[in-house]
Amino acid sequence: MKEGKAYNGMVEVGEDVREAYRVLEERIKASMAKIKRKIVVLSGKGGVGKSTVAVNLALALAASYGPETVGILDADITGPSIPKMLGVRGMALQSGPPGIFPAFGPMGVKIVSMDFLLPSDETPVIWRGPLKSSAIRQFLGEIVWGKLEYLLIDLPPGTGDEALTVIQSIPKVDGAIIVTIPSEVSELVVKKAVEFARRLNTPILGIVENMAEFRCPKCGAVYQILRSGAGERIAEQMGVRLLGKIPLDPTVSETSDAGKPIVASDPQHPIAKTFMKIAEEIDSLLKASS
Ligand code: ADP
Repeated sequence: MKEGKAYNGMVEVGEDVREAYRVLEERIKASMAKIKRKIVVLSGKGGVGKSTVAVNLALALAASYGPETVGILDADITGPSIPKMLGVRGMALQSGPPGIFPAFGPMGVKIVSMDFLLPSDETPVIWRGPLKSSAIRQFLGEIVWGKLEYLLIDLPPGTGDEALTVIQSIPKVDGAIIVTIPSEVSELVVKKAVEFARRLNTPILGIVENMAEFRCPKCGAVYQILRSGAGERIAEQMGVRLLGKIPLDPTVSETSDAGKPIVASDPQHPIAKTFMKIAEEIDSLLKASS
């Protein structure tokens, strides 16, 4: 193999490297062509419940389309949390001649995450942006997702390298869901996420406001622990749809920690029903636009 020539701190790549890049590009195209709808889930900052929303929406879509029709790609290379939330931590990805096969979670949701490739719980991924971006491109091109109705891509928080790679690598991202919590800090960064999606010409399906309110399990009183109305305000200011509000509720975190998120463990729960409603709205928005 020819080696890249270094000049001015950059690497001039040889024809063989360019060829390998083209091959991967073709694979990504072929793999993504089998997936009817690709949705990215993003947030301006971490800890707002982006992964929680992504897994529950994936399960809600699987509830209506059936097993093996929905996939979830955990594109958070340094902080993967999807396998834990879907109870498949420690599973090893299987591979065969066509490529690498995803793991299966509750309701037959297909899952791929960096977490499956780490040798132990404590192993951190200490990679710079370009390496993380190429791992994501490998996930897009080398994984045998098969035919899917939906692929949800849980992006790392913020508007950095990896988010950009995903959106630019997929020939057509059908929509973005932006998750936020009702706080001023979050409000500020969520606007950046909205603008980020717009600049990349990704249709914004809407905002999900998470941790919107807290209902006391003993007395039923509703408390606005964070500020109320942020979702509506952002939606109005930015001209995007408010898809729904998820309350702050220990059942949401307990079920995710136990590896069976609320939509899978208690589909009749009002919060599970809200997730189903959001998934239905997303589905009808996309059907209407195609
Ligand atoms: P992000 O992906 O934005 O970093 P996570 O989805 O990992 O956020 O959520 C962060 C923590 O908050 C997790 O422990 C999760 O279980 C918890 N959590 C998320 N949404 C809720 C909610 N609506 N009610 C209670 N806990 C929640």
